[in-house]
Amino acid sequence: MINSSWETPQIDDIKGYLDILHITHMWGISAGFKYAINSLNKYSMRSAYKIHLVCRYGIPEWIAVPVRVLLRLPLKDLTEDDYNHLGYDVFSKLALGKENIQAMRRKLAFFAPYPNTDDAPHCSNPERCKKAWYRAWGLDLFRLIHHPSDHLSFCDVIFTLRNMKDSNMHPECRNFVIDWVEESCPGLQKEEHVIRQVVASIQDHARIHMIVD
Ligand SMILES: [Zn+2]
Repeated sequence: MINSSWETPQIDDIKGYLDILHITHMWGISAGFKYAINSLNKYSMRSAYKIHLVCRYGIPEWIAVPVRVLLRLPLKDLTEDDYNHLGYDVFSKLALGKENIQAMRRKLAFFAPYPNTDDAPHCSNPERCKKAWYRAWGLDLFRLIHHPSDHLSFCDVIFTLRNMKDSNMHPECRNFVIDWVEESCPGLQKEEHVIRQVVASIQDHARIHMIVD
């Protein structure tokens, strides 16, 4: 069981690999356990179920993607099975992360950052540029950040700003302001920071159950 037999088992469904995962974890057979993990990578499963496996069998390398998916998913889309699979500890970490991110989004979307234009490149009409910026932020970016089903992540804000078409702002001023936001707006890193914190805390939880070689 421990040797090369892992390479050619007669298994063609997810349940078979889950059984191998369970048994090899129980007996601490790391070669078979790795085989089960690699095989299960071919199957899609609900994020909550994947997190359940992560915590039960100690698979920290699986955690990042389902956490990111669940942090974006509205709670109303979770099924009863999802809640059961997450359990109270993981669910509360996710819910807290979601709440933190929501608070940051509201803040960033509402308060458009704008630099001190004393340092701005020469512009014949700085007031017009400033108004155009606030307008673009308030109408376009606000809507993208708060999109109900597919909202814009903070890490994509700069890219989106650079690709937004706004003819009312002098291109040089626009680049100046976007460069400034990229360099000076610490809020843009905060969402990613919260996501990584949630990932790390669930990983810590999962490590307790890892097979020790
Ligand atoms: Zn300008």
